[in-house]
Amino acid sequence: MSKQILAIEDEEDILELITYNLTREGYRVHGVANGEEGLAYAETHRPDLILLDLMLPGISGLEVCRRLKYGEQTRAIPLLMVTARGEDADIVAGLELGADDYVTKPFSPRVLLARIQAVLRRGAQPDSPEEPLLRRGDLTINPARHQVLLAGRETPLTSTEFRILHFLAARPGWVFTRDQIVNAIHEENFAVTARSVDVQIVGLRKKLGGADCIETVRGVGYRFRE
Ligand code: CA
Repeated sequence: MSKQILAIEDEEDILELITYNLTREGYRVHGVANGEEGLAYAETHRPDLILLDLMLPGISGLEVCRRLKYGEQTRAIPLLMVTARGEDADIVAGLELGADDYVTKPFSPRVLLARIQAVLRRGAQPDSPEEPLLRRGDLTINPARHQVLLAGRETPLTSTEFRILHFLAARPGWVFTRDQIVNAIHEENFAVTARSVDVQIVGLRKKLGGADCIETVRGVGYRFRE
């Protein structure tokens, strides 16, 4: 079965370009011109990937991203933002909300395809037996499933939050700088800045509730409590 891609894009010629090139590569493409239709379609059809233009009429692309990443039905769907030059602040905000990657207009079809394939590969990692469960106090981290249990209850994390937590928890007691964390969790085309590590950690701590497991080491960075 070919993969289905939902493209939320209000510019007709860009939507056409996307549809033409992806269809030619064997993807099924459903295009919509605004966020409302995109959200409705994503919830009911659960496509394999969503291409989201950030500059949309009606609900903004960033708000669509937020709703997709907070929605039970849609949060696991890989999301690639389509942005214009000069939208850096929105790109960072989108990545922090859980978007997987972005392409900047004008993009070449080959770049778009490469990004889509990379995001789909990341989302479809098979259970790997060499990555064992990590247990740290109340926390159980399952790297193969990208799943975190806190006292037995599943705690939904964004993929970036998950990678940071997994990286730190695998090396309890070791202190890492923000740059080291960025390098460790870096994957192709994935932009996390040193500054946004702080935002990710704040989000992680909030989601992990009372589990005070990530410690700030002043002037240095972060470590997972031993
Ligand atoms: Ca647009």
